[in-house]
Amino acid sequence: MTSLTHVPVGSLPPERFAEVLAGSDGEAFLQAATRAYGALQGRVVWNVNSTATGGGVAEMLRSLLAYARGGGVDARWVAIGGEPEFFRLTKRLHNQLHGVPGDGGPLGDSERAVYARVLEAAAAELVPLVAPGDIVMVHDPQPAGLAGPLVEAGAHVVWRCHIGLDRPNDVMRRAWDFLRPAVEPAHAYVFSRESFVWEGLDKDRVEVIAPSIDAFSAKNQELSDQAVTAILGVAGIIADGDRIHATFTREDGTPGRVDRPAELFQDGPVPEGAPIVTQVSRWDRLKDPIGVITGFADHVDPALGAHLVYAGPAVAAVADDPEGAEVLQEAREAWENLPGPARSRVHLVCLPMEDGEENAAMVNALQRRSDVVVQKSLAEGFGLTVAEAMWKSRPVVASRIGGIQDQIDDGISGVLLDDPNDLPAYGEAVGGLLEDEAAARMGAAAKERVRRQFLGPRHLTQYVELFDRLTAG
Ligand code: UDP
Repeated sequence: MTSLTHVPVGSLPPERFAEVLAGSDGEAFLQAATRAYGALQGRVVWNVNSTATGGGVAEMLRSLLAYARGGGVDARWVAIGGEPEFFRLTKRLHNQLHGVPGDGGPLGDSERAVYARVLEAAAAELVPLVAPGDIVMVHDPQPAGLAGPLVEAGAHVVWRCHIGLDRPNDVMRRAWDFLRPAVEPAHAYVFSRESFVWEGLDKDRVEVIAPSIDAFSAKNQELSDQAVTAILGVAGIIADGDRIHATFTREDGTPGRVDRPAELFQDGPVPEGAPIVTQVSRWDRLKDPIGVITGFADHVDPALGAHLVYAGPAVAAVADDPEGAEVLQEAREAWENLPGPARSRVHLVCLPMEDGEENAAMVNALQRRSDVVVQKSLAEGFGLTVAEAMWKSRPVVASRIGGIQDQIDDGISGVLLDDPNDLPAYGEAVGGLLEDEAAARMGAAAKERVRRQFLGPRHLTQYVELFDRLTAG
């Protein structure tokens, strides 16, 4: 059975960041890119994860690796496969690394045997392709067991963990104990924030590197007001807009157009000119859709005339996530039970998923049209949606948890909610920003923060510095 998939990687010019970075930052990045080009000649930079599509990790790899290739680095991406039993186990580990039990199943000897069997098969395929001196970045728990065989093969191995929790609990510690022997041989362990670093790992090998967004992707590229209106019109979220202008630029530079309507649960589209408050999230209880909906209905003054748009992916498309359909159903019930006037100000949207870039352009348009963006999650690793909205100069109201705290400087580049379950405080924060002329200043500060800290160049430069250290040592 072939367990490795070679994922195609595009090529994008790193020089284009000069358009969005401040002068000195742009120069520093291009210097790092030139250094990387020199230092990495003859080495392949492998990236290993377990999926080519879906989720923030795949989204980041697609973009970061394309810029690395565009800069002349031989960056490659492989995804490991495995039996359903393996992915049930790794989903359990994923949940437990977020501090929740997931399916509650054990992490004992038979689970160790399943994990070892799949990773041995993957190592048998990957190790012969990797030359001594190559760099291998192993992402998240699924392929972590490759670290040992790759170190033995003479590669420089980095384990990159994208998940975590501010305060570890016992559920999490059990997952750490299961995975630690797999992870330990790596030369470096990279976490998204300091508080996510596991207990019991060699501190000298730990690096903290935050995630980033791609300023030029369909999700984040500039869109004209006309395109925003047209895209939301085609989706059915607003009444106006014409199909002709519902355009965006695809990653490969070719033109794209939004053609598919969204699935909508609403009394009617958002009226022209009405203020919009948006949360974009998967249909997941940890994103608290019910709290977002009822808190808006009960605690945002109707006199402000604002409408709430809660948008997530079409659930039919995600057949392996039965929870998505359940959570959407719960959200629909909460919406149907709202009193008439409140219900007409709340819109539930399932965005079509057939074309990932079309879906991204809809998220882009929605975030750009929003007066306030909300991310009232109950748990969050980083929260890419926060950086995405901040990049579009939107004032964001979000929970003071996980990586959201690294993005928003409370009161300056957004508003943090100390208690994500405090619905009156959420309503007050949203209503306050809708009325406040300072919201525009906050949005401008938000964009600057993302420009400095959460774009690809900062992320790639940190990787180059890490690779310099590893290959020198
Ligand atoms: N997203 C999307 N379409 C949707 C819903 C979400 O593209 O219909 C994207 C969203 O824009 C973000 C990612 O999915 O880029 C979610 O990442 P985040 O870190 O916010 O949360 P996660 O889903 O990883 O918990």
